[in-house]
Amino acid sequence: MGDYINIGFVTKEVQEKNVITNCAKVISRLNSFKLISCKYPLDENYSEWCEDENIPIETALGKCCKSNMTELICEYILFDKTIRNSVLRIKKDFGLYCFLLEIPSENFNLNNDIDNVENEIITFMRNASNDGFDFAFCDSEADFYDYFPEPKSRKNPHSIFISFNEHKIKLSSWKIDGFTERSYYICPICGYDRLDEPPYIDGYIPSHDICDCCGSEFGLDDCTQKQIEENRKKWIEEGCRWFYTEKKPPNWKLDEQLKNLY
Ligand SMILES: [Zn+2]
Repeated sequence: MGDYINIGFVTKEVQEKNVITNCAKVISRLNSFKLISCKYPLDENYSEWCEDENIPIETALGKCCKSNMTELICEYILFDKTIRNSVLRIKKDFGLYCFLLEIPSENFNLNNDIDNVENEIITFMRNASNDGFDFAFCDSEADFYDYFPEPKSRKNPHSIFISFNEHKIKLSSWKIDGFTERSYYICPICGYDRLDEPPYIDGYIPSHDICDCCGSEFGLDDCTQKQIEENRKKWIEEGCRWFYTEKKPPNWKLDEQLKNLY
């Protein structure tokens, strides 16, 4: 298990002041947020460092924008837990900014409760959908360098990846601790979340399995985002017929299932 669970928010925004505003919006979702210290290099060789303990958060975020090495040590409440020694950074590369929250994994009960922790993290990530970011990801010690500069690639190196623009969530075959295998997968067309196999092996090789719910074949019916949306619309218009009716839960609700997609 990694020492940290990292949550990253990536934006194509180029104006530093807008990036700072957007990061501040995410921070406003962290209850009782307290900036303990801001540690930043004084020169380009990182030979001299400064550590400020009384610095306004906007100024500290500005220092983060100036150097990928700047660290904000923080304390806040997330999912009713007091998180100490969390590190916030802003990384700039490939013409993108990434706001990174590094949360010590000891704050989470990953051994017994990883699914609930993942669900809480997904909710937290989704709540930031209007904060001006284009993508969000979560994994053990993950960085946005793992994904870019090839954002068009289907390969997903993160446990959880959300595209805010495409309203799409991708779960990889491992959970956020970096090693627990995910046993169920989500159909990108209907949102059914009990697929035995991932629709794409390693995130990009189509499995050609058929979804038990909507009957889509992965690699055939979901090749483009446009195709996914058209097939979803068609399936809903035709009455959401289950391909494998025995798998349909008694109190199944379309709206609940579609929430898995975003
Ligand atoms: Zn489906």
